[in-house]
Amino acid sequence: MKIDNRTILYGVFGGTVEHSLSPLIHNASFESLGFNCVYLGFGVPPEKLRQALFGAQALGFGGLSITIPHKAAVMEMCDEVDPAAKMIGAVNTIEFTADGKIIGYNTDGIGVARALKECGVMIKGRKVMVLGAGGAARGVVFQLAKEGAKKITILNRTIARAENLTADVGRAFGNDIVEWAPFKPEVAQKNAQESDLIINTTSIGMYPDVDRNPLEGVTLSDDVTVFDIVYNPMRTKLLNEAERAGADTVTGDLMLVYQAVEQERIWLGIEPPAGTMLDVMRNALTPGNNT
Ligand code: NAP
Repeated sequence: MKIDNRTILYGVFGGTVEHSLSPLIHNASFESLGFNCVYLGFGVPPEKLRQALFGAQALGFGGLSITIPHKAAVMEMCDEVDPAAKMIGAVNTIEFTADGKIIGYNTDGIGVARALKECGVMIKGRKVMVLGAGGAARGVVFQLAKEGAKKITILNRTIARAENLTADVGRAFGNDIVEWAPFKPEVAQKNAQESDLIINTTSIGMYPDVDRNPLEGVTLSDDVTVFDIVYNPMRTKLLNEAERAGADTVTGDLMLVYQAVEQERIWLGIEPPAGTMLDVMRNALTPGNNT
């Protein structure tokens, strides 16, 4: 990779970014495209976010990814926020336009839709059980509603969060397509039987807690598709058990890559090499390889 005075910088602003896979994914894409661009991770404390954002704009950055804990706070620093990001209540992508504007987007939902589409999983007309109601769940649930899911049932440990997300999605898409229920094994079992698609958006099963499964004790049938957005490990305990039950599975690395693909479409106006981005990430997530 050539770095010189013309190199355009991109980066991710987050609380801790040491373990972010975004630099790996975007730099692999830039290199494969032959673009003179570099993507770096930047740890930014909340009280420095505004300064860092306007600093990046002043330095001519091409764009930014925004991650925890800045996704909501950055919204009021943008000149414009894309309607999807507004609905979700979080921005994960910043575009610096040629006429000096800062525009915020959220690409998580598109990442989910494209991951499912690439695996041949339909959303329209389907019944979906979503585990979790945190930040990632918001992007997932709004996209499911937008893509025409027939019914979305949100299960969450903290009831208030499930209620809020249900109300927000209901206001935008109609109360009849979304409901919430407490995250209990018997409730999960009943809903699992009635669902075409199950999406885990909780962090249960994420490294280092790889021996945990959000659907522990729940019997899955072979006609359901299970999508775990946790990507480290790539094959979570939930996905391994779903596969043993004969269910189709979708891995979270696909969502991560396709939301990054969408970011580059926003920044560069081109379709980046998703295959290269996926290969480099899967290689990094393979146990024994260093990230
Ligand atoms: P978050 O906002 O902190 O939400 C975490 C969710 O997990 C909440 O619903 C929380 O429930 C639930 N949860 C956590 N521990 C639990 C437990 N022990 N029992 C029951 N529920 C529990 O985090 P997030 O940003 O949504 O991220 C969630 C996961 O998605 C992470 O593993 C992250 O790496 C992954 N992710 C993947 C992608 C991708 O592109 N593949 C993108 C974004 C996030 P409460 O509300 O009750 O606390």
